[in-house]
Amino acid sequence: MRRFVWLLILIAAFGSWLGVSAAQNAPAAGVLEPTVILVSFDGFRWDYVDKAPTPNLRGLAARGVRAEGLIPSFPSKTFPNHYTIATGLYPGHHGIVANNILDQPTGRRFASAIVKEVRDPMWWGGEPIWVTAQRGGLLSGAMFWPGTEAPIQGVISKYWTPYDSSRPGADRVNQVLQWMDLPDAERPRLITVYFDDVDTAGHAEGPDSPEVRDAITRVDGYIGDLVAGLERRRLLDQVNLVVASDHGMAFTDSRHVVVVDDYISLDDVDIVDINPTLALVPKAGREDAVYRSLSRARKFKVYRRANTPERWHYRDHPRIPPIIGVADEGWQVMRRETLEQVRAGKRHEDHGVHGYDPQFKSMRGIFIAAGPAFKQGTTVPAFQNIHIYNALAQVLGVTPAPNDGDPAIARTLLR
Ligand code: AMP
Ligand code: ZN
Ligand code: ZN
Repeated sequence: MRRFVWLLILIAAFGSWLGVSAAQNAPAAGVLEPTVILVSFDGFRWDYVDKAPTPNLRGLAARGVRAEGLIPSFPSKTFPNHYTIATGLYPGHHGIVANNILDQPTGRRFASAIVKEVRDPMWWGGEPIWVTAQRGGLLSGAMFWPGTEAPIQGVISKYWTPYDSSRPGADRVNQVLQWMDLPDAERPRLITVYFDDVDTAGHAEGPDSPEVRDAITRVDGYIGDLVAGLERRRLLDQVNLVVASDHGMAFTDSRHVVVVDDYISLDDVDIVDINPTLALVPKAGREDAVYRSLSRARKFKVYRRANTPERWHYRDHPRIPPIIGVADEGWQVMRRETLEQVRAGKRHEDHGVHGYDPQFKSMRGIFIAAGPAFKQGTTVPAFQNIHIYNALAQVLGVTPAPNDGDPAIARTLLR
């Protein structure tokens, strides 16, 4: 009997020692496991930080690492580049090859407004960071981001919400903070949040307009609200805040337009995407003629799919159409009918466009990150957006899927 009591005491003592050591390994109360909030400011050009007062973005840069620019991938449009940031893959590799896509084998068409297609995983190749995170046992939350409405590889973010462009920015910030308030076991470790203010103003009024300055100030305020909310929760120094944009913006007007039907007959082609890129599927037997005619267009470059510039990595995917064109910086590509509507005042004249060759500096976006994982008070040269995925995976401690990024470049951002 005495021996049995001793055994019980021994077991109890061992148990409590185990409990203590487990508690020592776990983070102390109030210390978070590595957490990332990934913020996108659509169309925030690399130089916008200096165009209007941006105390919050500057504060973030001072506490963290800032790139001189973020180089987009071709085409410099919203869906392809958000999904490149998320996957580390070029659009020509992940399959969101444009904002408007024709999948030739099935005849299906993708556009950001076609909810049924946006939610279909068939479009979304590669592995976005939220899927990598959840496969690694972490939860993620999406306050918008292209791709987060589809179950990719059968995985969808634990928290997500259908895209609604009218949802106020303050509301988006509050949703992020509410997720941060969840108990440890339910709190997402990766949160994406998206704001379109700057892109919308840039298209409507141009990159140098007062409206863009107002939008810059407004989105800088969202960072201020997010930082203040994290500070109130004593979480600011524990969360990695990453701010990126998908592309920049170039000034345009209706006097600088390449008119497609000045060169080819619209009956000869299916126009899959237009302005400032031109994605064409020619009718049978018309490919050579269409290519030759467009080769004569001024302020415009045309390529066959197999001969697009090597640096675009835009040849492989079956969704890339046989003929790809792109206007020179500051020029638009339109049908005659569209241009006439603009000139008659029946259609808004865009004063800002993006989608051009990523080699133009005007197409560069921003990258600013601060938090325990990132370097402090450092500026790095402009880098390509394919490298962000590896950095996020490393910060979260999950194994990245194969991608186009270079882990050595990702490491230049990290402590
Ligand atoms: P772009 O045509 O490349 O300038 O695309 C910008 C537009 O994409 C914005 O005006 C947004 O309203 C829209 N957008 C951004 N994210 C999403 C999303 N997740 N779902 C649907 N539309 C989106
Ligand atoms: Zn965009
Ligand atoms: Zn845009």
